[in-house]
Amino acid sequence: MKKDKIPLIELKNIYKKFGDIVAINNVNLKLYKGEKLAIIGPSGSGKSTLLRTINFLEQIDKGQIFFEGKEVGYIYKKGKRILDKPKKICALRAEIGMVFQHFHLFPHMTVLENVMEGPKTVRKKTKEEAKAIALDMLAKMGLLDKKNVYPACLSGGQKQRVAIARALAMKPKLMLFDEPTSALDPELVGEVFEAIKKLAQEGMTMIIVTHQMGFAREMADRVIFMENGSFLVEAKSKEFFSSKASNSRIKTFLQKIL
Ligand code: ADP
Ligand code: MG
Repeated sequence: MKKDKIPLIELKNIYKKFGDIVAINNVNLKLYKGEKLAIIGPSGSGKSTLLRTINFLEQIDKGQIFFEGKEVGYIYKKGKRILDKPKKICALRAEIGMVFQHFHLFPHMTVLENVMEGPKTVRKKTKEEAKAIALDMLAKMGLLDKKNVYPACLSGGQKQRVAIARALAMKPKLMLFDEPTSALDPELVGEVFEAIKKLAQEGMTMIIVTHQMGFAREMADRVIFMENGSFLVEAKSKEFFSSKASNSRIKTFLQKIL
């Protein structure tokens, strides 16, 4: 990772409130192409909101978001910030894949149709092209044999791998994972981790929110600990998990969840 390059994504002084709750409190982040970042922290600390602001599912109150060096998502009129045109937001969103805790597959579509949908409707691929891409991604996720079944017939681990294949079919530049294994039975966690690890090894840039410390330690270059909407600690993965570097707040948190 060369620090002189332009970050793939940069957040500058991001701030987000819900009523009186400050969900994101003046956060700064630079993520470079190929980097893998893990975000951990207690429930309610702002992890999901942070991912959602990056993907423009949430509008920030203050701050700026840059994608490949250009400010995105908002335009300024008479000094007032407003969300950019839906078309532009959609174009940006297409560059960023997001995987949620609860899969969010289309229940009335087969696995193959689920994965073809993005390339077809957003990327404007022909049906044949979309199918080729979808089959490719399903093969990568080890799900070719499930292509004609409906999501209801899949295990949680399989559903999540379809969700990952669907996100990948858009050929995103960045992948966001919001607790991708939290809704899974313990015996299904491994297959989803393996799928994400494979992407990491292929060089995908990613941010993963997880409570699975073993996974964060194994795949992340960098770890951020969030609390009350702020980054309490930001460190290289190795340093973060070495007991010397952990501050007492993080030690308590890790002891509780391990
Ligand atoms: P985490 O993902 O770390 O558990 P969240 O980002 O979901 O945290 O939430 C951060 C804070 O913002 C919490 O206090 C939560 O209750 C609040 N919050 C999140 N989304 C909303 C919303 N849509 N409306 C009101 N409050 C919200
Ligand atoms: Mg969350």
